[in-house]
Amino acid sequence: MFKQLLSVFLESQCPCCQKTTAHTFCKYCFNKLSSHQLKQPDRTGWWGETPVFAWGRYDGQLKRAIALMKYDNHPEIGIMLGKLLAKTWLASNLAKFTKISVIPIPLHHHKMKERSFNQAEKIALGFCQLTGYSLSSQALIRVKKTQAMFDLSPEERIKNLQGAFRLGKKPPQHPVLLLDDIYTMGTTIKESAKILRRNQIKVIGSVVVAKTSSYN
Ligand SMILES: [Zn+2]
Repeated sequence: MFKQLLSVFLESQCPCCQKTTAHTFCKYCFNKLSSHQLKQPDRTGWWGETPVFAWGRYDGQLKRAIALMKYDNHPEIGIMLGKLLAKTWLASNLAKFTKISVIPIPLHHHKMKERSFNQAEKIALGFCQLTGYSLSSQALIRVKKTQAMFDLSPEERIKNLQGAFRLGKKPPQHPVLLLDDIYTMGTTIKESAKILRRNQIKVIGSVVVAKTSSYN
């Protein structure tokens, strides 16, 4: 009886299909999500000055999961995605880095008020729970309200982000991994890395949940 009662409390609705589930997603929706995982994430973007490690391709169910998290108030999806990203990272040869500070790309405080949480911070929370890395949420702040980048050209993206970030009050203790939800052209990651490096902070690279197909 107690067990039955407990399971009712522990179960919630799958945000994709509303089926009852004991996990963030039901089994069916989770399998659909997993089909977007990249086969060799460390081989597709880990090169250059600020390399990128991505969990999956920004498409289908993964695109939907990110939208549900951001626009339908599901921060728990962020934590789940962060754990998936961590499992893949730990299985790669990049896990040789042990002392790392993870900096989630910050939101402007107006946007933060509107959404009530920063999706990158939730992903970073799940990522740090499994990797044991330190979460450094206040190392970087977004001081400029930037426009959505979806329709912008590469040049417009760079201009849009100029002066957008500043070093926060709590600098990271270790070399940095930047973390974001979506990676398109890497403009946000590169601009953030530039600010950190300008302040003598070492940036190893970046980890993201999804990479769009316009990249590569
Ligand atoms: Zn479902």
